[in-house]
Amino acid sequence: MNYRHAFHAGNHADVLKHVVLLFCLDALKRKETPFGVLDTHAGGGRYDLFSAEAMRSPEWQHGIGELWDWPDAPPAVARLKRAILADNADGALRHYPGSPLLIANALREGDALEACELHPEEYAALRQTVGRRPGVHLHARDGFEALTALLPPKQRRGLVLIDPPYEKPDEVFKTAQVLGPALQRFGHGVYLWWRPLKNDSELRRADAEVRASGADKLLRADLWVDAPAPAGRLHGSSMLVINPPFGLDATLRQALPVIAAKLSRGAAGFRITTP
Ligand code: SAM
Repeated sequence: MNYRHAFHAGNHADVLKHVVLLFCLDALKRKETPFGVLDTHAGGGRYDLFSAEAMRSPEWQHGIGELWDWPDAPPAVARLKRAILADNADGALRHYPGSPLLIANALREGDALEACELHPEEYAALRQTVGRRPGVHLHARDGFEALTALLPPKQRRGLVLIDPPYEKPDEVFKTAQVLGPALQRFGHGVYLWWRPLKNDSELRRADAEVRASGADKLLRADLWVDAPAPAGRLHGSSMLVINPPFGLDATLRQALPVIAAKLSRGAAGFRITTP
């Protein structure tokens, strides 16, 4: 396990993922009944954008950095900025919150987060970031296995975020496979599955497999900031949402064109489809 999210925190892929995540958390909070969240690949939860790792590329400067001072930002980006400001008391962009911190900050009394992380250093960071928060339970265990072991949530409503590092070539296929049994246990949950935009025919096969395993409400949102890079630098990403909350489609149709225009490094674009 070599992947460290600190190198990528706040990049265009995090922007897409976290805009969708925050919209779906807000949608769950429209009802008073408690919800549970499973974050299968949580990471450390908080990233210093001026650390040596974050400054190596630095991807965030072409991601959240480009969207930070944007008075006319669409509501979805303004929402992300508010969530980031919660972790930057002086208003300057210094720390970027990862998914478990965004989720922990959204929890109400009775809501819960189950967050899985396998890398020992990331797990230690995660404990420090959200380990003492009420309703937060951390697991140093395999997130794919947790998809069946920890579902359904006790609250019987909620959200599942699946965000593997894709270090192994079969991780798209593997996720599509484990989603079947997960959907059998928790069919009405909202699932957010992040994927790199590298091999579109593989993603289309995965989408078809998810549909075949019983998910009939699907929304796919892709965002790319450049033409595909031969050397494998990530040019875009794709979120597959199962059981998307009302309003997500319209919110993304408003936000993604202007995010793509802001983040463009030559050939940016977006696509919202129903696979
Ligand atoms: N979801 C995080 C966010 O949005 O801030 C980023 C997660 S990062 C893309 C993927 C994380 O999964 C890494 O921290 C890695 O150590 C962890 N990981 C790798 N394999 C795992 C596995 N089988 N189960 C749980 N975590 C794993």
